[in-house]
Amino acid sequence: MIMESDATRAMDSENRTYWESELETLPRAELEKLQLRRLNESLHLAARSPHYAKCAQIGRMLREGIKSIEQIRELPFTTKDDLRQDFPWGFLAADKREVIRLHSSSGTTGNPTVVFHNQHDLASWANLMARSLYAAGVRQTDVFQNMSGYGLFTGGLGFQYGIERLGCLSIPAGAGNSLRQIKLMRDFGTTVAHAIPSYLGRLHEVFLAEGLDPRRDTQLHTLVIGAEPHTEEQRRRIEAMFGVKAYNSFGLSEMNGPGVAFECTEQNGLHIWEDAYIVEIIDPQTLEPLPDGERGELVMTTLDRQAMPVIRYRTRDLTRILPGACPCGRTHRRIDRITGRSDDMFIIKGCNVFPMQVEGILMKLPEVGDNYRIILDHLDDQDEMIVEVELKREWFSGDVERLTRLQRRIAHLLRDEVLLRPLVRLVEPGSLPRTESKAVRVIDRRKTSK
Ligand code: ADP
Ligand code: ZN
Repeated sequence: MIMESDATRAMDSENRTYWESELETLPRAELEKLQLRRLNESLHLAARSPHYAKCAQIGRMLREGIKSIEQIRELPFTTKDDLRQDFPWGFLAADKREVIRLHSSSGTTGNPTVVFHNQHDLASWANLMARSLYAAGVRQTDVFQNMSGYGLFTGGLGFQYGIERLGCLSIPAGAGNSLRQIKLMRDFGTTVAHAIPSYLGRLHEVFLAEGLDPRRDTQLHTLVIGAEPHTEEQRRRIEAMFGVKAYNSFGLSEMNGPGVAFECTEQNGLHIWEDAYIVEIIDPQTLEPLPDGERGELVMTTLDRQAMPVIRYRTRDLTRILPGACPCGRTHRRIDRITGRSDDMFIIKGCNVFPMQVEGILMKLPEVGDNYRIILDHLDDQDEMIVEVELKREWFSGDVERLTRLQRRIAHLLRDEVLLRPLVRLVEPGSLPRTESKAVRVIDRRKTSK
């Protein structure tokens, strides 16, 4: 028996190392056997959906039998465009009466897509989420405040059911309204909170404006941060601001949402739950598989979803498999921090730039605050990259010479990183626009201003 009973889990959840010891530490050979069995089941289910029913390769594989995980490479990829084209029902593999919830992606890069779940799917997702939080050291005795938007966005309910499954006291605070967040934290003794990283700098400012220091005036010990790319430097800043450990949480609506891959307390890569997903890394240009350790596009297949299995989904997220075993003992492989989406990259004056390269440089500088944006514009007949940087309050002074020196230094460091000298604008803390959801880091005005 792989699953442990709820009763055992509840009884000694405080002392155990893992949420599901056997599954999380399954020897690789066993894990691969389980994957193969589940892949077979998933393909059978998938073939019931109008989209995959048309797929000749799946039909053939089901007739001939699938003998190894590697055979998955014979199947076509599924792309975001496929999901959009067959919107809304084309990927549904179950009877509509069986479906009990739908979620939709945030639409960061275009029209949203939809994902359907039945009872089994939601139970499985809640369990993966609980497993993830447990790996990051969250326990039943914690008070968990979820500062994620609720509704179609998966960060709300996805976390909610996982927190409840784990057995914490949950505070479904939702996004924004920092004063209320702070009050909830203090009234109920919140020990763990989840938020997108770009929000936490703002929350910290509100703490300070209220004359409070989260390190002293809350009981927080852990933050869970995810849903958008961020650098190691930003994580360290968040940890220092709040006096906590911050764990990276990765997920995407097409693969459920949060609970896909999560850092354990080692904070060295995110375990991607391989009993629930098959993971591949491909070269986004040649579409060929890449070996462990090489960075490329993450491709994922659901193994434990019934209402809407998705086969070889091209996430567009760039990462690599970290070679070697994790000291925590979990056998599920780890992916490296996501450095962005393949389509985040922009080209300016012939240089290829990823926003996270810019963030990596900015967040290393103690003078720089937590918000920045990159504007691509067409000025004086040429393309320019303008980096607007909020400074920390204590640095935003009238000393023009000091500011000019800093501005030059930032431009210089960025040029060394992206091979192009940007225009740097230093701005007052709190002056750049902020969103309640994922941060918008790049604004491209080149086409409109030409
Ligand atoms: P959308 O694609 O519209 O933003 P989702 O809400 O499903 O919709 O977001 C999933 C995407 O968010 C992922 O594909 C990835 O690009 C990004 N993301 C989620 N978690 C992380 C993380 N921990 N680090 C970096 N990027 C992340
Ligand atoms: Zn680990």
